[in-house]
Amino acid sequence: RQKERSVMTEAHAYAAKFYHAVLRNTAAGTGAMNYLRDRGMTDKLIEEFGLGYAPARWDTLAQALDKKGFDLADMDRGGLLSRRHEGEGFVDRFRDRVMFPIHDGDGKIIAFAGRLMSDGQPKYLNSPESPLFSKSRTLYRFHAAKGAIRKSRQVVLLEGYMDVIKAWSAGVHNGVATMGTALTGEHASLLKRYADEAIVCYDGDDAGMAAASKSIPLLENAGFRVRVGVLPGKMDPDEYITAYGSEAYMREIVEGAVSALKFQLIYLRKSHILLEEDGKLRYLEDAIKLVARRESATERELTLKELAQEFGASTDSLKQDVFKIRQQEK
Ligand code: ATP
Ligand code: MN
Ligand code: MN
Ligand code: MN
Repeated sequence: RQKERSVMTEAHAYAAKFYHAVLRNTAAGTGAMNYLRDRGMTDKLIEEFGLGYAPARWDTLAQALDKKGFDLADMDRGGLLSRRHEGEGFVDRFRDRVMFPIHDGDGKIIAFAGRLMSDGQPKYLNSPESPLFSKSRTLYRFHAAKGAIRKSRQVVLLEGYMDVIKAWSAGVHNGVATMGTALTGEHASLLKRYADEAIVCYDGDDAGMAAASKSIPLLENAGFRVRVGVLPGKMDPDEYITAYGSEAYMREIVEGAVSALKFQLIYLRKSHILLEEDGKLRYLEDAIKLVARRESATERELTLKELAQEFGASTDSLKQDVFKIRQQEK
């Protein structure tokens, strides 16, 4: 077991060097270099994040691994290769994709994500679960962000690989992302050892807001104070930074992140038509339920005041409603 794992780790380190060299030093990598440059990736970022390119051929990595003396069946189990559908032997799992190495907490490469450069499915291909790699336990760039997370006691959660890289270049050195899956309790308790505050900074589209909303109770149950960085329109951090710059991202989105409750009220607004009388009432009822769940009496009070003012209700009546809900839920 231990032997198998160390061979797989060695192979991943080799594959990362291989993909990176293809990107940097070969004609086959030119298209991928252009793609990355178009997306604002500098040479420095490409080096720092160890980005690479998997060639568009069937078995370039397979042959290289074979030559190095790796057992190809092991490489299939580790997710670098797959068994040929027809005939004998193995083919590369990743072909014609920009490659992002994924590390474990100690900085060893345990998996890859590969992005297509054109429209097509799937946009990202990840390594399969393996003896090295478990999605529900892995956070992209945790090994590199750990120091900054511990120092600031704060972690910034992002949705995608590109977002982590761009946010890092904007000065967010405590940013990590899940592997294209939802945040798990395991992720949260791992992070809780290093931080007390989580800033959720997912995409501004419906999927991102829904995911942010789901992550709030998960993080709070793990003991985090949670804030949410809300992006305008349907932008993601990468797009926002490209459009408005690093400083604006830091100031407006990360430092300006709103409380979990504020975010939930913003999100709730999306599903109610506030121009209509009964839309307003239903929004207010749902908002009151959210307020009732908060533990801090001060936060409840301040939020109710704002809601009362906005909707021309009395704070007392809203307080009574909150009180009733809290009694029921005891
Ligand atoms: P890019 O990352 O190139 O900017 P994007 O912002 O459109 O693309 P999203 O659809 O927002 O990408 O996806 C964000 C993240 O979700 C990705 O970085 C990746 O981690 C994950 N993801 C997206 N699509 C897939 C997929 N098909 N399989 C696995 N993970 C995926
Ligand atoms: Mn998204
Ligand atoms: Mn996105
Ligand atoms: Mn994006």
